[in-house]
Amino acid sequence: MTSSLVKGLVINRKVAISVALLVCLCLLAVLHFSSAGKDPVDVDSGSYLVMGTFARVVAVAKDPDTAQKCIQAGMAEIRRVDDLMSDFKSDSEIGRANTEAAEHPVQVGEWTFEVLRRSAEFSKLTDGAFDVTVGPLVDSFRTAKKTGAAPTQEQIAQARTKVGFEKLELDEQNKTVRFTVQGMRLDLGAIAKGYAVDKAIEAAKHCGAAGAMVDLGGNIRCFGSPPKGRDHWLIGVQDPNSVVEGVGGGGLLLTLKLTDASIATSGDYQQFALIAGKRYSHILDPHTGWSAEGLSSVTIITDNATDADALSTAVSVMGMDMGLALIEKRPNTEAILITSGPTRKIIKTPGAGKYVADTPAHP
Ligand code: AMP
Ligand code: MG
Repeated sequence: MTSSLVKGLVINRKVAISVALLVCLCLLAVLHFSSAGKDPVDVDSGSYLVMGTFARVVAVAKDPDTAQKCIQAGMAEIRRVDDLMSDFKSDSEIGRANTEAAEHPVQVGEWTFEVLRRSAEFSKLTDGAFDVTVGPLVDSFRTAKKTGAAPTQEQIAQARTKVGFEKLELDEQNKTVRFTVQGMRLDLGAIAKGYAVDKAIEAAKHCGAAGAMVDLGGNIRCFGSPPKGRDHWLIGVQDPNSVVEGVGGGGLLLTLKLTDASIATSGDYQQFALIAGKRYSHILDPHTGWSAEGLSSVTIITDNATDADALSTAVSVMGMDMGLALIEKRPNTEAILITSGPTRKIIKTPGAGKYVADTPAHP
C-alpha cells in the first residue's frame, strides 16, 4: 500500500509537473502572440527648454511604458551634460574651470574631459577655426548685442590675447584643465549640445528603444525604427531666409530622410546682433576676432551628433571653399551650405542628395 501510495504520488507529481509545463507553454504562447501582434508605439516628449534652446525626444518601443522610460533617460542625459558643461552655471565643471584654471589645474570628470579632448582635435583639424577658448570673444559679442555698439578693434585685439587652443593645457593622466593665460574662458556652445544628443541616444538604446530621435536646437540624431507608417526619420532643415535663390520662401528649406545618422545646422539666422544695419553672427572667427561671414547656414550630415555640431560651426568659420574641402575629405560626411548676401546659393556635397526626401517633414 505504501508502495502504491508512493507510486500514486509519483504519478500525481508527474501529472502535476506536466500540467504545470503545459500551462507555462500556453502562457508563453499567449504572451508571444499578443506581443507579436502589437506594433511598436512612438512617444514624443514635445518641445521643452534646456541648454538655452528647444529640445525634443521621440522614442519608438514595444510599449508606451518603455518608450516613456527611454524619453526620460534621454532627457536626463541632456540635463547632466548641461549641469557639467554650461558656462552660464558657476558650479558646473566648465564654470569652475573658468574661474580657477588660470590659478591651478582643475580636475573635471570623464565626460567633460572627453568633450575638451574632442574639441582640441577639432581645433587642430580646422586650423583653429573651431576653438572652445573663444569665450572672451563671445563675451565681447554679447556686450555688443546688449549695448548695440560694435566692439572696437582694440577690444577685439585684447580679447584675442586670451583666445587660442594652444593656451589650454589638458592633462590626460589626471583629467585636468589649465589656462596658461589669465582671463581665458571656455565656451562649449558649439559642441556640448551634439555631445548631449549622442548621450541621449545611447541612453534610449540602452533602455530598450527600437528607435529614437533627439533634437537639441537643430542638433539631431536618430537611430532604428522611425515612427509608424514611415520608412525613415524625416528631418526638416530650416530656411535661413524667407527667400532663397531657386527655392522660394519661408519655413522649411528641405526635408532629409535619415536612418542612424545625425545632422546639425549652424548659422547666423537665429542668433545674431544687428548693429548699424550690419548683421554680426554669434559664430566668431578666432583668427580675426570678428563674426564669421559668408555662409548664412551650414548643415552637416554624419554618423554622430558631436562631430556634426563641431563641424557645422567650424565650416561656418572656414567658409565655402575650405569648408567643403574639409568635408569632402571625411568619410560618411556631407554638407549643405547656403551663402549669405543678396545672391544666395545652395551648395551640396555630391553625396548629400541621397538624404533629400520628396515628402516634407511633419512637425
Ligand atoms: P553652433 O550653434 O553650434 O554653431 O555654436 C555657436 C556657439 O559656439 C556660439 O554661440 C559660441 O558660444 C560658440 N562659438 C562661437 N564661435 C566659435 C568658434 N569659432 N569655435 C567654437 N565655438 C564657437
Ligand atoms: Mg556647433
